[in-house]
Amino acid sequence: MNKIALYPGSFDPITKGHLNIIKRASHLFDNLIVEEVLKAEKIDAKVKVFDGLLVDFIKNEKIDILLRGLRAVSDYEYELQFTLTNETLAKSEFETIFLSASREYLYLSSSLVKEIAINGGELDKFVPECIEGIITRKINESKKQMIG
Ligand code: ADP
Repeated sequence: MNKIALYPGSFDPITKGHLNIIKRASHLFDNLIVEEVLKAEKIDAKVKVFDGLLVDFIKNEKIDILLRGLRAVSDYEYELQFTLTNETLAKSEFETIFLSASREYLYLSSSLVKEIAINGGELDKFVPECIEGIITRKINESKKQMIG
């Protein structure tokens, strides 16, 4: 049976940790939908952007599996809250599955990446190459707006 999985997130910005989960999941499910960004990496996944409630998107797109990534224990509480709330709001049947982060990306978060970028640090260990320029450009633009 064709199983459709969704990996939702704000991916602001997408990191190598997110990509690692996406790559691994693309081998597990028949169809994988990722919310926002991606493309340059040759991964078999569709990218969709949506507003509104996640449970509406899940119903409309006939999603079977909601996929999330778990880093340390600190992620667990938020992820459980996220899962149970979406289960309560659910308008169709789906199952939530967690993939544990790979050892090398256990510490990696989008907010840290932003912090490093704002302070002029190197990003190549944390985000895919095609994303580096986009982050730097966005930060320069917001710095200009703050000055102007
Ligand atoms: P949100 O904005 O919904 O918190 P994110 O875009 O930050 O989501 O992340 C999407 C999902 O990826 C979440 O389940 C998050 O726990 C997971 N995730 C974030 N960073 C990593 C990482 N380095 N390794 C594995 N999973 C991660």
